[in-house]
Amino acid sequence: MLSYQHAYHAGNFADVQKHLTLYAVIDHLLRKKSAVTYIDTHAGRGLYPFATKETQRLQEYREGVWPLWLLRSQFSNPLVNAWLKTLESAQPTVGEFTHYPGSPWWLSRSLREQDRLRLFELHPGEHQHLNAQSLPKQAQRIYGDGLVGLSHQVPVATPRLCVLIDPSYERKVEYQEVVETVVYTMGKVRHAVVMIWYPLLPAGHHHALVMGLKESGIRKIWQSELQLREHNEQTHGMYGSGMLIINPPWGLDEHLAAAMAQITPQLGTTSRYHAEWLVAE
Ligand code: SAM
Repeated sequence: MLSYQHAYHAGNFADVQKHLTLYAVIDHLLRKKSAVTYIDTHAGRGLYPFATKETQRLQEYREGVWPLWLLRSQFSNPLVNAWLKTLESAQPTVGEFTHYPGSPWWLSRSLREQDRLRLFELHPGEHQHLNAQSLPKQAQRIYGDGLVGLSHQVPVATPRLCVLIDPSYERKVEYQEVVETVVYTMGKVRHAVVMIWYPLLPAGHHHALVMGLKESGIRKIWQSELQLREHNEQTHGMYGSGMLIINPPWGLDEHLAAAMAQITPQLGTTSRYHAEWLVAE
């Protein structure tokens, strides 16, 4: 039984890190003509109006994308500026900030004729919402398990593959399932670019995911973590978020680190960002 709904968290600091990363990866991939298959294993509903009662309940965007939007004329980093400009283009009314777009939007907005997109979503209500979105014809929405679905999709027909794995981690075993699926995927498509998001929680379950991939034999894994607050024995809830990127396009690590260095201080006085190669070439 799935209970997680991303609408409660839309536009929070984790979304900022995740979607800025996604934007930067796509931007690099578009520099070559050869076709890309994008697979979003956990798509969510695609678009999140801030006004819904779910998003209003926690208003997590106020510690995430909101302060960045308010400061949007003041950043000098080109990646941050391009990302915020793109965010502007997702708004139904010019000049107003009323909607936060999810990964299906970030992925589908730059699809070219030759590219493909597969969006997996297992929650029936979220899948229904996603079905209501208008997406380009290359985007296929699949009601089903994204990790199983990814395993069935590889190898893909296009020369390149780019995957976003963004589970809700409602079940502890998902950390291990992600490792197994990624190892299987990399065995089928060695050059795949794979992004994996994970939460930083006091229980530290993400260590199993990170160590599992570190020791898997997969090369070129870049890790970044955004910590919103200090954590100690008294910490409750998610205090930060992490991203692993396997086979990041050349130069991406430096571009993203520079962008995150500029926005991290705007996310709160205790926020910190750290990035390093978990496994080098
Ligand atoms: N990737 C989305 C974005 O960036 O906008 C947010 C995704 S949200 C963190 C996780 C989503 O995965 C939820 O919508 C949940 O219903 C869905 N989900 C949970 N388990 C799943 C599974 N095994 N396969 C596919 N989707 C799943």
